[in-house]
Amino acid sequence: MRIKRLRDKLLLSAVAISVVVALASMLAVSFVIRQQHLDQSNALLHKAARIIDVSLAERKENQLTASRRLATQNNLGSTIWYLAQYAQSDVDRETLFNTYQQLVRDTYKIGRAAKFYKTGVYDAAGNLVSFSLLDKEDELVGFVERFPTPMFQVASLKESEEVSRKTLMSTSSVAKINSKFNTPLPAQESVHYALVDGLLAIESHVPILDAVFDTKTGRQEIKQLGLVVTVQSLDQAFVDQLSRLSDIEINIFSPQGLSRGTLAAYRQPEWSDVQSALTAKKSALTFNEVSIDGMGFYQCMIPLFSDKQLVGTIVALHSKDVVQKDNWQMMKTLGLIALACLIFIFPFAWYFANSISRPLTTLSRVFRDVAGGKRVETMNEELSQLANGKNRDDELGDLTQSFMAMVDAVKQKIAQINELNASLESRVEKSTAQLRTANAELVRLANIDVLTGLYNRRAFFEIASLAHAQTKRSKRELTLIMLDIDNFKSINDHFGHPAGDEVLRQIGHQLAITARESDTAARYGGEEFVVLATDAGMAEGVFLAERIRDAMKTIKVTGAGHVITPTASLGIACLRPGETFEQLCARADSALYLAKQAGRDRVVEAS
Ligand code: GH3
Ligand code: MG
Ligand code: MG
Repeated sequence: MRIKRLRDKLLLSAVAISVVVALASMLAVSFVIRQQHLDQSNALLHKAARIIDVSLAERKENQLTASRRLATQNNLGSTIWYLAQYAQSDVDRETLFNTYQQLVRDTYKIGRAAKFYKTGVYDAAGNLVSFSLLDKEDELVGFVERFPTPMFQVASLKESEEVSRKTLMSTSSVAKINSKFNTPLPAQESVHYALVDGLLAIESHVPILDAVFDTKTGRQEIKQLGLVVTVQSLDQAFVDQLSRLSDIEINIFSPQGLSRGTLAAYRQPEWSDVQSALTAKKSALTFNEVSIDGMGFYQCMIPLFSDKQLVGTIVALHSKDVVQKDNWQMMKTLGLIALACLIFIFPFAWYFANSISRPLTTLSRVFRDVAGGKRVETMNEELSQLANGKNRDDELGDLTQSFMAMVDAVKQKIAQINELNASLESRVEKSTAQLRTANAELVRLANIDVLTGLYNRRAFFEIASLAHAQTKRSKRELTLIMLDIDNFKSINDHFGHPAGDEVLRQIGHQLAITARESDTAARYGGEEFVVLATDAGMAEGVFLAERIRDAMKTIKVTGAGHVITPTASLGIACLRPGETFEQLCARADSALYLAKQAGRDRVVEAS
């Protein structure tokens, strides 16, 4: 049972470990994947930032080059100069208009070629003298109609239409703009970011310089005749262009909250956050994680400064969705791997646990069987199967081998014990037989007279008392014959004791062969014998006594050179009803006495 618990625990541990390992590896892998994607996003966004930087720098450079080209148009400086001259004199208005027309055409042509959003040309006094504005569909062209105060009428024209006094007159004015540099015209070339009509843009100022003949000094001098201002917006087209370079969302923000990007629902960053982020990091590029409308993004920002003022930001966003999808995919894969591990571990643990528990169970069963004395014959076979089984060169194999060795040793001991037991048994048997013999001898000695081989007096009384009891019960007859050797003392005296003994022995022998099988002959005393005859009355008793007396005559014992022929006197008594055995003996003895008295060698019946 405990082994089973061990197996269950093992299985449970295997499952728990698999789950923990799977979860841990899922977490670890998730972390690694997240880190990887973070790094990737970081690298990607930095790449995007570089692209944006380069693109902005190229735009600035292109714009500057185009502005310069416009500013150095051969006729631009002279046109402005002439316009300034004409403005001061009452000149031919037709000539003035044509001059304007030429200027507008040039401004428009160059601005359009360079894709400027706005192009303006100012005279040295800061008055706008030419202006063009490009929109996606329409093309607005403005020119200056000289008024006492600088008022500019902007006319809307179709692309194909020529600007003419007639068309201008027939076209309704769309706006009257007051446009004049309030500050002195920049004398230096400059390119900077600016907010123009709420749009983040690159603005360039290029002075129009020309060699002018000074009538007062009579010398030719280089003078600033005007200023070309070009504005290129960082608009949707720009964002699209950048977005094509990478698969990252790019948006442009200005402090006014304008967003130009492909992600319509994108919430613009808090402007103060951008500023504080920039201040804190002190870097042109910031990188962080943001959540927009519940969606996660990695974000980097390129700040745009104008005169050290933050005017806008280009933000690049990389969605975390991709990361999460990959993460989820990896989680699923890991989950499947964990499941596969579990499926693999379960039968493995089962097999592993069973390979321990099964032999142990077998061993324990065999132990039990051995202890209970059951199936011991098949035990060896089972154990050797276990010991020589697959992969049984382990501790269990050793245990089984040791157990088998122990069983062999026990068997040897048992064999020794059995052997010892057998020898003990035979010895005991022998001793018992000896004892039995000795006992029989003792019994015999206790009951038999050694000299004659007849019953002794003690045994005779035992037999006689039984016979007496039986006779009393069956009311049969019982007769006692008592015999005493005549003058035995003198036999001893004359022929010696050995001769006397021989006489005693031979009389005993004669009694034994003369008496019936049912009769009991015994040595009663020194030279006295008795014969108890069952189922015999006086007649049979006398008959038997006489036969005994006759048999005695056959005895011939040699002693001291003489042949001895002993005689005996016999007294017979028959049991009387109610008589005790002692009384019977006494009567027989009395009869014997009478026989002696009567001269010996005779039989006397008791009265
Ligand atoms: P009676 O005719 O009156 O019987 O005379 P008796 O000599 O036979 O009688 P008594 O009783 O005087 O003598 C018996 C003798 O028997 C005495 C004893 O020494 C002898 N005797 C008793 N037992 C043995 C025995 O075992 N062997 C021998 N040789 N003699 C025995
Ligand atoms: Mg006697
Ligand atoms: Mg005698």
